[in-house]
Amino acid sequence: MPRAPEPVPVASNENTMSSTQVHHSTAAVRTENVTRHYPMGEGLIRAVDGVSLTIEPGEFVALLGQSGSGKSTLLNLLAGLDRPTSGSVVVHGRDLAKMSAEDLARYRRNDVGMVFQAFHLISSMTITENVELPMRFAEVDRAERAQRSRESLERVGLGKRLEHRPSQLSGGEQQRVSLARALANRPRLLLADEPTGNLDSRTGEGILNLIRDLSLSLGMTVVMVTHERALAERFAQRSIFLADGRLASEEVRA
Ligand code: ADP
Ligand code: MG
Repeated sequence: MPRAPEPVPVASNENTMSSTQVHHSTAAVRTENVTRHYPMGEGLIRAVDGVSLTIEPGEFVALLGQSGSGKSTLLNLLAGLDRPTSGSVVVHGRDLAKMSAEDLARYRRNDVGMVFQAFHLISSMTITENVELPMRFAEVDRAERAQRSRESLERVGLGKRLEHRPSQLSGGEQQRVSLARALANRPRLLLADEPTGNLDSRTGEGILNLIRDLSLSLGMTVVMVTHERALAERFAQRSIFLADGRLASEEVRA
């Protein structure tokens, strides 16, 4: 008689999963016992302290926790902006901890999109130029860049503002530009760190609606850091709570 598959723990603080499990290569994100420690004087800040979690393709996950609980540090590890002190961070089957600096840069350019609380737009450039900038680094050719930036800006509802500069736009519109920029390389994984932190609540909800719609239509995995539990409950399929760099609990939306 065939054995029923064993339930797979989705998130735990311990490294309980063997590397031979079937889910290994299909997960969008999988961390195993990942840590990021910072030296401080004689001691150590354990910003991320042994986190094992699995995120499935297309999932919309919120990372919650108090200020200083390690949310941004964990997100930056997934983004390849930082390297773990120990443990592994596997995105789409590739271990970021083992990548060369060059491969990691390519990963950041091509495989992930990032959105931050502060929009990080360049004020002297039009929004089209802002969206095109990462594609220039990725050496996407000019015609393709123009087409993708227009398409991305249309996706976020800014198709009529292509030649505007950031200062001519509201905060919500500027965050939509940064979302368009994150989407331009068609990432499979979108990472957002407090994307609504600088926006009023109604505008913030608009951004999250947009991110959720894009996630559904593009099949894109989303990991969003927020400290607003109500927003997480409304938009994310799963909320993961961090405390002192460790997984504290998780809630799956009914
Ligand atoms: P959160 O995003 O949940 O507010 P962070 O991930 O930014 O938390 O920070 C987690 C902990 O790690 C905090 O104690 C913070 O001070 C510390 N930390 C973050 N980045 C650094 C760094 N570059 N050097 C030293 N300590 C850091
Ligand atoms: Mg943070």
